[in-house]
Amino acid sequence: ATPEKVVLYWHRTDLRLHDSPALHAALELKPQIFIPVWTWDPHYVYRSRVGPNRWRFLLECQNDLSKSYTQLNAKQKLWVVREAPQTALPKLWKAWGITHIVFEKDTDSLAEQAGVEVMMKMGRTLFDPDELVSKNGGKATMSMAQVEKAAGKIGDGQPAKPVEAPESIPDPWDKDGMDLGKIQQDEVKSDPDLNADHRTSKDQQYTQIMGPKGDFGVPTLDEIGIRSKNVSTPHHGGESVALKILAGYIKDEEYIGRFEKPKTSPADFEPQSTTLLSPHLHFGSLSVRKFWWDVQAVMDERKKSKKHNATIPTNLPGQLLFRDMYFGAQAAVGEAFSRTYGNPVVRFIDWHLQSKTPEELAHGKPEIKFYEVDSSEAEEWFLRWKEGRTGFPWIDALMRQLKQEGWIHHLGRHSVACFLTRGGCYVSWERGAEVFEEMLIDHETACNIGNWMWLSCTAFFAQFYRCYSPISFGKKWDPEGAFIRRYCPELAKFDKKYIYEPWRAPIADQRKWGCRVTGDGSSSTNEDGTIYPKPMFDFDERRTICLDSMKNAYHVGLHGNDRQVKDGSWKKS
Ligand code: FAD
Repeated sequence: ATPEKVVLYWHRTDLRLHDSPALHAALELKPQIFIPVWTWDPHYVYRSRVGPNRWRFLLECQNDLSKSYTQLNAKQKLWVVREAPQTALPKLWKAWGITHIVFEKDTDSLAEQAGVEVMMKMGRTLFDPDELVSKNGGKATMSMAQVEKAAGKIGDGQPAKPVEAPESIPDPWDKDGMDLGKIQQDEVKSDPDLNADHRTSKDQQYTQIMGPKGDFGVPTLDEIGIRSKNVSTPHHGGESVALKILAGYIKDEEYIGRFEKPKTSPADFEPQSTTLLSPHLHFGSLSVRKFWWDVQAVMDERKKSKKHNATIPTNLPGQLLFRDMYFGAQAAVGEAFSRTYGNPVVRFIDWHLQSKTPEELAHGKPEIKFYEVDSSEAEEWFLRWKEGRTGFPWIDALMRQLKQEGWIHHLGRHSVACFLTRGGCYVSWERGAEVFEEMLIDHETACNIGNWMWLSCTAFFAQFYRCYSPISFGKKWDPEGAFIRRYCPELAKFDKKYIYEPWRAPIADQRKWGCRVTGDGSSSTNEDGTIYPKPMFDFDERRTICLDSMKNAYHVGLHGNDRQVKDGSWKKS
């Protein structure tokens, strides 16, 4: 008999079995046939710049999930479909006779038109971003006070409790039923109008969807064209990895109770001072609600025994709420959230180097230039920042950690983002966000964009006179310079007196410590041996220029959605 319910479960933002409200809802349907798939969704994967480290993290998450499925049902796995969902899914629901498609809430409405029942459930954030916005008077959530207030009006003001992980999983179709090639051949045979050429091209299409082995397997790095030698991150993906890390922190009740973000060091490594669970939250290998409630349980116990707990916004629940704040802002602003052009919440600043959005260039820019800097000079600063050769060891060590490992501490991100924008180079935050997008393993558009706006004082935060020094800020955390020695090994032997300002070391000492400070970093050696670059500018001078320029831009007060009108003046929206 034809089964009544054939459910296609579409894993997109939730590479996990635990606490996935959407997966739970899919299984509640009691399907006779259940097919969990991942598609190479271009909106989700290819849209972004993805570096090798994030690719490996993603594949590890997929492999781990696939294994978990197989453990629950030997016939099951994660069925990886190699095609964009817009074209792949309609083929799949026809071939597999799908009656329901279920996935974690994002935005897409493609299946409904094809008569397949679509079911979406929230699970990516603590609160539904659309609901947060609606409880915030329809406005973007731009401060923690707004988030807390809006969240307080949703249900009992607490995130929903996690749902149970499934203990069993229904079967997929049998081998022939899953085999698109076989289904296709049957279709081709029964269609006398198809000529030989059509048959071959259709066959190729299906082979492509099922992968090179025809088994919907998780791709290898090789298959997606990534050389494993380019993967350098020590951080690994997968639900089982995430749950183990979380369980480790939960056991350490002092860590949980006393966690206060501003007191965690950006210079700590192996182990880092914060949880490093962000990439797992991004890929959904960890549920944010489980994180929240496991932490709450520890804090509740501590409260009973009158032990100290840090409070929102600096404690761990506060960190998770920050994440919701950015999702809420993104949900309200929509697509324009990730750029300046057309964005009502972001200030327009006369950066020396603007973003390269084509519409922006076409629309021109307001003439509020204060300091003229050759944009090719700013482009050079940008490149040196990106490659970790600014000549400021604190900045270079952080940028090299980002490139090698795909993760840096929040205050490290503060340092490099402030330095690139309002506190040094005066380059658009959009250029910096693009670099983070490529290199971070935890890249999350809402959080990345929102935090870049914060640090560049274009939204969320306006105290532009509070600037991070690339010298004294790092020194405060790590006077010995262990972090710099680790990521800029050419400076490893420098005395701590000079580790943050190696250009001040006498030449005889530089020779003794095996590294000359000279050049622009485009080469790591010269005839003298190992070299480290000179600082690319005088920081104090740049700080003054940036501060004056920010003051001026704030005075002019334009936002991303203001428009130039015919007479050349600017119209505020
Ligand atoms: P923890 O301190 O252990 O915090 C726990 C969780 O809370 C994090 O995993 C994260 O999900 C959330 N969180 C903490 N701080 C923030 C914050 N300020 N904003 C949003 N969520 C937060 N975070 C991302 O997840 N993806 C990004 O692409 C991203 N880009 C950033 C860009 C810049 C310029 C800056 C300054 C910050 C960015 N952040 C981003 C926020 C923050 O730096 C990271 O979430 C955090 O450092 C991750 O490390 P952790 O898991 O150890 O954090």
